[in-house]
Amino acid sequence: MPELPEVEAARRSMVRAVAGKTIERCVVVRPVAVRSHTPQRFSRAINGATVEDVARHGKALWFVLGRWALVFHYKLWGVVRFHSQAPLPDKGTSLLLVFSDGSALEFRNLQLSTFHLIKAGDRRTLDGEGIEPLVPTTTFEAFRRALGMRGVIKDLLCDQERIAGIGNLWAHEILFRAHIRPERKVDSLTPAEARTLYRTMRETLRRAVEAGGEPDFQDAFGRAGRYRLAVYGAAGRPCPVCGTKVRGGRLRGRPTFFCPSCQH
Ligand SMILES: [Zn+2]
Repeated sequence: MPELPEVEAARRSMVRAVAGKTIERCVVVRPVAVRSHTPQRFSRAINGATVEDVARHGKALWFVLGRWALVFHYKLWGVVRFHSQAPLPDKGTSLLLVFSDGSALEFRNLQLSTFHLIKAGDRRTLDGEGIEPLVPTTTFEAFRRALGMRGVIKDLLCDQERIAGIGNLWAHEILFRAHIRPERKVDSLTPAEARTLYRTMRETLRRAVEAGGEPDFQDAFGRAGRYRLAVYGAAGRPCPVCGTKVRGGRLRGRPTFFCPSCQH
């Protein structure tokens, strides 16, 4: 599932690819992904609109289209690819935005991904009310308040009502770098550990954005992420810091990974 670093990397590539362009037509190949409108009304609303900006809230992309915002959520997976010449849709294509200069943005290989067209100025986030980890207003105090006093630290980091944009993958990478085991209870963190977690969350996400996210993800130009994951999906492989075998398992039904030597 693309998380904050991947969606932010995608956003940056899309600003370069399509900001300022006018949508000439829209081809809805798989209407099931469009949740707010019928394909006809969806197309009618956005045809002729200019992409004023591409923003991000949590894990969702917002195409700012004048009166409307087109909100795209990858959910499990998806590829959004820029083409300088609009391609013909194939069986992987879900939706195609064709611009007046002949270029196109293609949404393909979507897995439960959604499109919502909402009125500009509608304050709904569609993705929880959690704080954005990388904005200046997310101070250590704001982070500590958002986490709360009860629950398992990994779950709290992934809770979109608390913190926006972090999912199972980046929660594990952050906790590895903070030397904290995923199953720890939040009220067991020492003040020093909580500060380290805050700092590490921001550092890890920033570096991950700069690297384009995890290696399976691709931005609008087809560039793959270059961040080398330390523990996620790496059960049985040596920890990149100490060489101990990374341990894998399940934490309430979801995959979990940690280094038994580096994390406490
Ligand atoms: Zn280690």
